[in-house]
Amino acid sequence: MPGRSALQAASIALRRIFLEMKKPLRVMKFGGTSVGDAACIGRVAQILRDASREDPVVAVVSAMSGITNRLIEAAIHAEAGDLERTGAAFGMLRKHHEAALGELIRGEGKRNEIASRLDQIFSEGERLCKGTALLRELTPRTLDAISSLGERLSAPMVAGALQELGVASEAIEATELIVTDSFHGGADPLMDRTREHCEAHLLPLLGQDVVPVVTGFIGATADGTLTTLGRGGSDYSATILGAALGADEVIIWTDVDGVMTADPRLVPDARTIPEISYREASELAYFGAKVLHPKTLRAVQQAGIPVWIRNSFAPSRTGTKITPQGRSNGGGVKALTAVRDVALITVGGPGIVGAPDVVARTFSTTAELRANLLLISQSSSQNDICFIVAGSDAQRTVEALRKEFAQDVAHEKVEHITVDPSIAIVAVVGENMRGVPGLAGRTFSALGRENVNIIAIAQGSSESNISFVVAEKDVKAALTATHCEFGLGAPAAKEVVTSSVK
Ligand code: ASP
Ligand code: MG
Repeated sequence: MPGRSALQAASIALRRIFLEMKKPLRVMKFGGTSVGDAACIGRVAQILRDASREDPVVAVVSAMSGITNRLIEAAIHAEAGDLERTGAAFGMLRKHHEAALGELIRGEGKRNEIASRLDQIFSEGERLCKGTALLRELTPRTLDAISSLGERLSAPMVAGALQELGVASEAIEATELIVTDSFHGGADPLMDRTREHCEAHLLPLLGQDVVPVVTGFIGATADGTLTTLGRGGSDYSATILGAALGADEVIIWTDVDGVMTADPRLVPDARTIPEISYREASELAYFGAKVLHPKTLRAVQQAGIPVWIRNSFAPSRTGTKITPQGRSNGGGVKALTAVRDVALITVGGPGIVGAPDVVARTFSTTAELRANLLLISQSSSQNDICFIVAGSDAQRTVEALRKEFAQDVAHEKVEHITVDPSIAIVAVVGENMRGVPGLAGRTFSALGRENVNIIAIAQGSSESNISFVVAEKDVKAALTATHCEFGLGAPAAKEVVTSSVK
């Protein structure tokens, strides 16, 4: 690898050449379903070909859908010493990729070349699993190395599909580009180093009209150890690259039409929102609307780069544009979301009234566990502190709290520590809700009319969301009632197709 100052000098020079070309630059990310099989990859290649005829494009790809899960399962079997199941999983993965490759690439020479690349990656994975089985230990570092294989496999296939269409393209592993901290399973980028690497590696390709196809999801520490950015992290990869290259826009291609006013499986008249703000999109991502990885917008916040969400299965649709300010829809409330796989934990009893340390001890316990708190609510009588954690964190959180408060429970200072997994959070989100009186009232009246009981309520002081806890069985009714109350399903003003990809 060249020294840092050589990289810096090269990247400054390249940047200058590139800027003089004054061509808008786009980063396009394709999610797992968008590259789910040969036909999907073919569609992606067409989108990239059409876009790259206009302006330079950097592609970022996820693993084919379901592959990351299969890889993680294989790693877990390896940890249990079950190499038979690991082997079977790899056999299946090989077949799946080889079948797609066979359909995508007609020329034998080219196909063999990519097949041998895939074979190397599979062998690497099998070796990692064998090591894991031998040690009966799966470290976060090894898990990252195994779960990242899916992106390393899909990138050469997408690049190959582009070459089939006559577009010069090169697969690149993001370990060469995104420099991260060493937090395996959820690493964050070190942007200065990342910028240098991106400029040095990607600008020369773009300057020669080559479309780089970069693996999403992964990066590497400064000393070259592979890391992942967290599940669903390819969105984040795209905005990291967008920010590092000073791109004009980032387009996240997925299998839905954009950010919707609610989950259309629960609210049939949900519709696509044409434009929302960074803040609204982040609130929705945080509260479980699955279109974006929650960290995605962090990377572009400072530069204000717009991020589109578009449907690779219906590329003529406009999608949703996420911008720093968003655009008002007149009503304040923009969208609803629900998080279902969560549990409500309550610490309470009359004995905690006025006890100064219960709150602090509760939350230092959750902090120690790194349990993510989605919502907190405490009545001013201080009888109960209740908060919501992800379902997967619930059991260990309650156990830790029972341990922490064992003495207090014995002396009846704390009366109960309970967990209720049959609940869900519903969040009403909109940047312009701020300062609009009556929205909470309307929300709760609408719920009352539908007989939906509210278990707890929280409103952030940012006032861009009101969230409440309901029984899981009431989620659909709660969403439908609020969606209707705020007229979110009303037909949008005719959307002008201002597609950024012509
Ligand atoms: N393939 C990774 C995952 O399934 C990353 C991504 O798709 O964004 O989590
Ligand atoms: Mg995703």
